Amino acid sequence: DAVRERCGSDSVIEAHRLLTYEQTADSVTATFEDRGADRTVTVEGPLLVAADGLHSAARRQRFPDEGPPLWGGAVLWRGTALGRPIRTGASFTLVGNLEQRFVHYPIGPVDPATGLQRQNFIAELTFDPAQGWDAASWNQTVDPEIFLPAFADWDFDWLDIPALVGRAKQVWEYPMVDRDPAPTWVDSRVALLGDAAHVMYPVGSNGASQAIVDARVLGASLVEHGLTPDALAAYQDRLHEDISALVLRNREAGPVAILGTVDERCGGVFEDIDDVIPRAEVESFMARYKAAAGFAIETLNAAPRTLPEGATLTPRS
Ligand SMILES: Cc1cc2nc3c(=O)[nH]c(=O)nc-3n(C[C@H](O)[C@H](O)[C@H](O)COP(=O)(O)OP(=O)(O)OC[C@H]3O[C@@H](n4cnc5c(N)ncnc54)[C@H](O)[C@@H]3O)c2cc1C
Repeated sequence: DAVRERCGSDSVIEAHRLLTYEQTADSVTATFEDRGADRTVTVEGPLLVAADGLHSAARRQRFPDEGPPLWGGAVLWRGTALGRPIRTGASFTLVGNLEQRFVHYPIGPVDPATGLQRQNFIAELTFDPAQGWDAASWNQTVDPEIFLPAFADWDFDWLDIPALVGRAKQVWEYPMVDRDPAPTWVDSRVALLGDAAHVMYPVGSNGASQAIVDARVLGASLVEHGLTPDALAAYQDRLHEDISALVLRNREAGPVAILGTVDERCGGVFEDIDDVIPRAEVESFMARYKAAAGFAIETLNAAPRTLPEGATLTPRS
């Protein structure tokens, strides 16, 4: 609705699937399947920005030999349920090790009548990637009994994981997939954006947020260079190298790697966590990841706006 309001009611066309694109020196023509009318439609313009996700048609056309996304062995099961607040009531909990873990955080206020709040959870198990996973079951609801036996004794006095999962109305299954960094995101007048460009393990909560950063950097490049291939080249120059490195870094578990360090040092058994890993070590580990992912709070807060307020785009070609 915001895009329609700002760019005009004809600026959003739904239910059209990109099939292919062709370009000349002056323009690009995209062919879409109109899913409502069983026909194809072509649209010509100065640029094409393909934000068509993990299975991007534009990326497939650019790199036809790339094949399907890569599964490294981890499967995530996600859901929400009502639970009692933990610690501050806004605390993020990460339990387990690199092969099996449970992530849990609140996504709603505490109901004063019940003392409960809506909480999000992710249960994760790692398998041998060679065994494969039933692709048909990816990204759909599943019976939690698939994974709950592995968490059967994860009932702590402050968090009863089997009970929490048992209260979820739906549990969704996601394979943890990514792709090798693409050699380029830009093909003259065509650019990939978001997961189409750089799908990564979401271990640093940074897939959707990176897509938003992409959009702002691309927007700033378009304001500076107009609707030209130079704008796409500037977008790529600004982000491609760093984000490709981040895709590879996230394969090493990102910020979650700290669990591996603790597990290695004490097998998860300790009286005082500060004796296992001093707070300064945790902070410097997290600071390194945040800097690499562009999340460093002070740097972000001190940075100028990517897109100047009120910036508008004047088409030049
Ligand atoms: C389990 C899990 C947890 C995650 N957690 C986080 C997190 O905490 N924080 C975070 O920032 N990110 C997280 N992510 C990543 C995040 O979901 C993605 O990075 C984000 O959705 C990418 O946005 P996108 O717009 O690029 O792609 P998508 O959200 O995939 O959108 C692509 C769109 O393109 C459409 N499309 C597909 N093919 C075509 C075509 N041929 N033509 C036209 N349209 C097409 C699709 O229908 C879809 O609407 C997580 C991902 C997973 C799987």
